[in-house]
Order: sequence, then structure tokens, then C-alpha cells
Amino acid sequence: KEPTDINALAEEYMRLAYHGLRAKDKSFNAHLETHFDDTIKTVNVIPQDIGRVILNLFTNAFYAVSEKQARLTEKEARSYTPTVSVTTKKVEQYIHISVWDNGDGIPKEVLNKIFQPFFTTKPTGKGTGLGLSMSYDIVKAHGGTLEVKSKNQNYTEFIITIPIKTKRA
Ligand code: ADP
Ligand code: MG
Repeated sequence: KEPTDINALAEEYMRLAYHGLRAKDKSFNAHLETHFDDTIKTVNVIPQDIGRVILNLFTNAFYAVSEKQARLTEKEARSYTPTVSVTTKKVEQYIHISVWDNGDGIPKEVLNKIFQPFFTTKPTGKGTGLGLSMSYDIVKAHGGTLEVKSKNQNYTEFIITIPIKTKRA
């Protein structure tokens, strides 16, 4: 683990995921929001691992908003702004990193399966179903938690919580 600027890491991977998608689909546009807690200095994490978690969450979020946009009628699409947002917050001895999107959300009956390895609702070739299970393991290995909140048809939010001072292994 090494002292890592979590805000910079989140911003970097948000742009990476966005430009990755736009490279494949030039017409894709989304509104990106960042709400960074500037009181956060550095957090002791394995940057490649936490970066991978953040990238997974953004990849899922961009996929969700692009799918929603694709299924809307032209009229509905006019009043829909695909939005992906990241918020960081320091609360006592913990850092929260929240990734939010206004895509289609996750149906209740699916919600308890998403952290299982190989669970995916995406068509063959579009998803491995490994992103969230790997992310869960990485966050757990940092002594933290990965939680989800979702409202069907409306939004999804994933919240990474990691202790600022992790116990030494
Ligand atoms: P994959 O992206 O390869 O399908 P993940 O483990 O990353 O695998 O996600 C598992 C499933 O969780 C997805 O197939 C999707 O059904 C659901 N999911 C994850 N993130 C979101 C999101 N932001 N919005 C809607 N559904 C999501
Ligand atoms: Mg994924």
C-alpha cells in the first residue's frame, strides 16, 4: 500500500472510462460531475487495485446511462441528461467514494446477485460478470466495504468505504 491521492485517482479513472466508451461510440455523451472533499489528503491503498474498482464502477455506470439513452424514444431522450457523478467524503476515520448514475437502475430481484462472480445481465461479449465480485474482494482486502443503492429505472449508487488508517497485515 502507498499514500494515494484518492480524488486524483477517481478523476483519472472517470475520464479513462468515459473516453474508452467514446472511442467505441463517438455519439455517446454524458454529463460528468465531481464532488471532491478537499480535506482528504492521501489514503494508504494499493492504487492499482482501488483504481481498478473505481474503473469497474465507472464502466458499469457509463454502460447503464448509454443503454438507457438507447432505449428512450426521441422525445424522452430530449429531457434525459445521462449523468455520472463521483463524490468523495471523509467521515471520521473513513473515506467514502460514491459513484452514481441516472441509468436504468438494478431491479430488486437482481440486486442480491450482482456481487456473485460471473453474474451479468449483459449480452455475451459485453460483460464477464467479474467486475463487481473482484471489486468487492479488493475493497474487503483494504478493510472496507462496497455497498449498493439503486432505484429501478432511475439511479444506481455504489459506495466504497475504506478506513484511512488500515491495519497492517
Ligand atoms: P458486468 O459489468 O461484466 O456485467 P459486473 O460485476 O461489473 O459485471 O456487474 C454485474 C451486473 O450488475 C451487471 O451485469 C448489471 O446487471 C449490474 N450493474 C452493475 N452496475 C450497474 C449500474 N451502474 N447500473 C445498472 N446495473 C448495474
Ligand atoms: Mg462491469
